[in-house]
Amino acid sequence: MEEINSVVAGAGIWGCTVARRLAEAGRKVLVLEKRRAVGGNVRCETDPETGIEVHVYGSHIFHTHNGAVWDFIRRFVDFNGYQHKVMAKYEGKSYFLPLGLALINKFFSTELSPCEVEDFMKDEKRSKAIFDAFFRGYTSKQWGRAPESIDPEIIRRVPVRRSYDINYFNDYNQGIPLSGYNSLFERLLDHPNIRIECGRRYRLGDFPDAKVYYSGPVDQLFGYRFGALPWRSLRFETERLPLADYQGTSVVNYPQIDVPYTRIHEFKHYHPERKDVMTRTETIIMREYPASWKMGDEPYYPIADAESLALAGRYRDEAAKIPNLVIGGRLGGYRYLDMDQAMAAALELEL
Ligand SMILES: Cc1cc2nc3c(=O)[nH]c(=O)nc-3n(C[C@H](O)[C@H](O)[C@H](O)COP(=O)(O)OP(=O)(O)OC[C@H]3O[C@@H](n4cnc5c(N)ncnc54)[C@H](O)[C@@H]3O)c2cc1C
Repeated sequence: MEEINSVVAGAGIWGCTVARRLAEAGRKVLVLEKRRAVGGNVRCETDPETGIEVHVYGSHIFHTHNGAVWDFIRRFVDFNGYQHKVMAKYEGKSYFLPLGLALINKFFSTELSPCEVEDFMKDEKRSKAIFDAFFRGYTSKQWGRAPESIDPEIIRRVPVRRSYDINYFNDYNQGIPLSGYNSLFERLLDHPNIRIECGRRYRLGDFPDAKVYYSGPVDQLFGYRFGALPWRSLRFETERLPLADYQGTSVVNYPQIDVPYTRIHEFKHYHPERKDVMTRTETIIMREYPASWKMGDEPYYPIADAESLALAGRYRDEAAKIPNLVIGGRLGGYRYLDMDQAMAAALELEL
């Protein structure tokens, strides 16, 4: 390959989309990824024994309203049409999320119609009961806060669905790549103008003659000179079980405060079309435990309060002073992004 003129640091969905666009525009691109493989937090591993695709950093379901993103991603992979549904287990009973007729009617043993449910839920005692059961414990576990400090106002902002629609996301375009998530990244980067180096971390000042597109942590890039940006982390515990099916669905939430994990993922349900996997008498589950974060831990969710957002702004200002440096993605931007939002940002970027 001729001389490199663009460096993409970080091979998640943002970086790989940027790399592909650069390559198609005729630029010579070096992709650096500090981990041993590309894909960022969407990376999967196929269990050698069962063939089950394990989402190493937690369940990832692609969903989007954005037509440009949908058209772009389908140049590389087809989707299996999986529609995400989430259950919550509370006091031994299973409920369908989100907050809609299915959950409310089961919880209160009622038969409310779509026209009745909103008024029914305006009653403070009822909304508090729902909040305490499904939101208070979950939110306090997720963010590491005392349950009492979780504001019941949250429930007022949770939209009540006046239907039995239990599709978790509202997006019409949804699914899991038929060929698996890793194939998406392999195909995005499969271009004669792209060279990939895994296991190599980009540091500020490397490649002074190239334009750099960086999607690692923005504070790390500047040696944490103003302090570290706070994150919430996660710990995953994966188990292979001698059962055809553990929970009958891909994700079950555990909102009770006395259960230490927030969710159990069961990955075979993401690929109902894979009969070879579905008919096996083994399954793989993963318990998700929220965890505090310290430097060196995997960052998952930005703790976005006024102070941390101001700090992120200082780092962004610092980055803007450096010519030929573009910062993006969830770690670079210090904001939660769904996959389609990360891809949209990469597609809209002025190269
Ligand atoms: C638990 C969880 C579940 C989620 N589920 C969904 C879901 O169901 N649907 C959905 O749409 N979104 C989901 N998301 C969001 C999704 O993970 C993000 O949208 C996506 O990972 C963002 O991609 P990215 O490229 O910005 O970042 P990342 O995927 O984090 O990629 C950044 C890459 O940069 C690398 N890197 C860092 N520093 C350097 C450096 N100095 N040099 C070289 N490489 C570096 C990292 O190793 C990493 O590979 C979920 C997020 C979480 C936390």
